[in-house]
Amino acid sequence: MLTIDAAVLEAIVAHARRDHPDEACGIVAGPIDSDQAVRHIPMENAARSMTFYEFDSSEYLRVYREMDDRDEDFVVIYHSHTATEAYPSRTDADIASWPQAHYLLLSTREPDVTEVRSYRIVDGAVSEEPVTVVNMDSTAVQSYKFGQSPASVEYECRR
Ligand SMILES: [Zn+2]
Repeated sequence: MLTIDAAVLEAIVAHARRDHPDEACGIVAGPIDSDQAVRHIPMENAARSMTFYEFDSSEYLRVYREMDDRDEDFVVIYHSHTATEAYPSRTDADIASWPQAHYLLLSTREPDVTEVRSYRIVDGAVSEEPVTVVNMDSTAVQSYKFGQSPASVEYECRR
C-alpha cells in the first residue's frame, strides 16, 4: 500500500497538469527503509514526449547523489499518461528497476478528473496496490479518480 500526504499528491498532480500534453515524471524521496514519501522532486522529461518519459541523465545523477547524501531512497517514482489510462505500459514495466518503490501513475486525459493509481513492479511484473491519502481536503477527493475499484482507496480527511 502507498501512503501519501495530500500536499505531496497535489504537487505531483499540479506538475502533471503543467506538463500536459507531454508526460511528466518525478520522484518522491524519503528516509531509507521508512516507506515515507516526504520530498517531492519534479524531474525533467528528457524525451519531452506525449507517449514516453525518460529522466534527464545528468539531473538524475545529481538527484541520486543528493539523495545518497541525505540517506534517502526512492519511495515513489511517478509519471503521467496524457491520453491513456493510468496503467504502466510494457515499456514502463520493462524499465522499472526499483522493486522497493511505489510506481505512481497519473492520467490527465480528462481535464477535470485526474486518475491516480499505484503499482509495484518487480522483474517486469505489475501489481496494483491500494493508495491511502492522508490529510486530504474533502473537496479534492472529487477531482481524483483512484484505481479501478473504489474499495482500494482510503481517505483520511482533514475535517
Ligand atoms: Zn508510461
